[in-house]
Amino acid sequence: MKPDRLLYPASAGLYCPSGDFYVDPVRPVARALVTHGHSDHARAGHGAVLATRETLDIMAIRYGPDFCGAAQAVAYGETIDLGGARVSFHPAGHVLGSAQIAIAANGTRFCVSGDYKRGADPTCAPYEPVACDVFITEATFGLPVFHHPNPKGEIEKIFTSLKQFPERTHLVGAYSLGKAQRVIRLLRDCGYERPIYIHGSLARLCDYYVSRGIDLGDLRPATLEKDDTTDLSGAIVVGPPSAFAERWARRFNEPLVAFASGWMMVRQRAKQGGVELPLVISDHCDWPELTETIRELQPSEVWVTHGREEALVRWCELAGIPARPLHLVGYEDEGD
Ligand SMILES: [Zn+2]
Repeated sequence: MKPDRLLYPASAGLYCPSGDFYVDPVRPVARALVTHGHSDHARAGHGAVLATRETLDIMAIRYGPDFCGAAQAVAYGETIDLGGARVSFHPAGHVLGSAQIAIAANGTRFCVSGDYKRGADPTCAPYEPVACDVFITEATFGLPVFHHPNPKGEIEKIFTSLKQFPERTHLVGAYSLGKAQRVIRLLRDCGYERPIYIHGSLARLCDYYVSRGIDLGDLRPATLEKDDTTDLSGAIVVGPPSAFAERWARRFNEPLVAFASGWMMVRQRAKQGGVELPLVISDHCDWPELTETIRELQPSEVWVTHGREEALVRWCELAGIPARPLHLVGYEDEGD
């Protein structure tokens, strides 16, 4: 049977008929396999969810304990039979608990990589290559212009800025799942030992990362009481970028806004967002990582789910690997 009869995009997402399940469905379905906890991949309201323990915990933190009818945790590498399909989850290196999902159906091996990256990240298990016939990849940064620099070099920019502006509160924008914890861990790995102040919306996820053995050091709430005279001069405050437009952010001393995202490679984006200190730190593959991964896996086919599909499809064709875009909608990653 042709691969595109065994796994194909339906309106709710990628569907496997022999196992009767969807991967990262964007609408409530009877059975969902979820790659990771970002809100565009992990949604509430499914009948049954199969995911890693961490992804299930993250979904419960974000949506409440009743986020689905029945949750089943799967360990990395464990094989589960679902109808006529065999599935297993493998580390994707994207955020805590993130997984690629291997699906074997009718003799064809698929790897749905979800979101993934190859660069080092001490806050999650590192990406593992999964042998497959059909490799299904995102292409968020699927253009040759995207090269992500060493994240530690980006973190050093915060220290340089703090030396230059020791009085200003440095507000570091980072999405609440994955990026925020990675930025905090990077600050620690670069030798920053002072307290780091966090926006309230990060607290539960940071606590969860700590409970899973990821040391984030001294974290304190970045909430100033009404009659508080401290203004966190010279402190580092981490929060979701959306919070910097709120009244909350105006209480700090001459706030200097930084933002950690792969998109900070695009000068225009930083400018539009009023970002004074862009930090190119991404939880996705850049162009070299995408193409090297495909070279390494040598799949007989590549399907590109979302992002800048056309350039990667073209690259595959030039490399002699049949490829096609799936044009999946609904995945505007919250954790780029
Ligand atoms: Zn993601």
